Amino acid sequence: MTDQTTQYKQQQYPCASCGARLTFAAGTTALKCPYCGFEQQVVADETREVREHSFDQWLAGAQDKPATQIAAHTVTCTGCGARSETDKLSDLCPFCGAAIVVEPDADVMITPEAVLPFAITSAKAMDLFQDWVKSRWFAPGSLKSLAAREGIQGTYLPYWTYDSDTMTMYRGQRGDYYYVTETYTDSEGKEQEREVQKIRWYPVYGQVERVFDDILVSAVKRLPADRVEKLEPWDLPAVVPYQPEYLAGYQTLRYEAEPPEGLANFKRIAERQIQRDCADDIGGDQQRVESMDTQWNSVTFKLLLLPVWLAAYRFDDRVWQVMINARTGEVVGDRPFSKLKIIAAVVAALIVLAVVILVVSLLKQQQS
Ligand SMILES: [Zn+2]
Ligand SMILES: [Zn+2]
Repeated sequence: MTDQTTQYKQQQYPCASCGARLTFAAGTTALKCPYCGFEQQVVADETREVREHSFDQWLAGAQDKPATQIAAHTVTCTGCGARSETDKLSDLCPFCGAAIVVEPDADVMITPEAVLPFAITSAKAMDLFQDWVKSRWFAPGSLKSLAAREGIQGTYLPYWTYDSDTMTMYRGQRGDYYYVTETYTDSEGKEQEREVQKIRWYPVYGQVERVFDDILVSAVKRLPADRVEKLEPWDLPAVVPYQPEYLAGYQTLRYEAEPPEGLANFKRIAERQIQRDCADDIGGDQQRVESMDTQWNSVTFKLLLLPVWLAAYRFDDRVWQVMINARTGEVVGDRPFSKLKIIAAVVAALIVLAVVILVVSLLKQQQS
């Protein structure tokens, strides 16, 4: 554990016009003043480039270091002078709302190598959220106004990306179809012939190779993994080298899964592809892959930040969470159902059914 009050290097970007603190304006390449609208271009820092770490080298170096789990650290706002605690890489001052970006020491924890900057503004995200709520069947009417009141939070989620050249020896079985002619007696007692498909299995073994590049593995545990996965795909070609300016005005979560845990998840994802490769290699009509032995060569990884608008709201004594991909606008979420609306729909359906039964029985009475 690191010291609870560790001081990290921190960045704030004063407005040259009014002295307030600038934030990164989504969809642009500029910092903008939330008060006077002054804009300042983010100057690309040429010394920064996206570098991937060798996993083996990192592991060798990590042996003698203490685990760096997520202690809160103190930041001092240069806007209002208030000291506060945060466990995030960037946050807003809880007193004046000024954007604060923290740059942790690379000796203490892995620092982000790359970032996909926010493209969708909070206003646009709010529209997407409300359209999504409106398009839900049986959503309570009060949800829309509730969602608007609670607001949404721009958050960078940390991801590991992994690369590896793999070579896999496998054993399995190949199934080939063949056909036999069978005789049978048909319903009229006549003897008939038919072709019947059978399968013959042969033991097989072989070798497949595949290069994996930039496979995404979520590094946060506090959000449901299946939900986070649904935010994909991400436009990864638009990733830029990390610069603290892109974080100003947003919350940035620290990674909660350490690199070895990320590696295990990467291997699980990669093995699904390798299994398909083995099946392709086996050929034939059906395949069974019984064992795979994979060499994971030149494993490298990096820390990447991806932008998400998060909305959480209480409804019916439950917390509901909605996430919006801040690049594609895709909305993924959890939603309540209105009991009243469902009951009304069921009652309406029952009335229709009762009327139909009544009409049918009246018609039958007239006929008889
Ligand atoms: Zn200003
Ligand atoms: Zn402040």
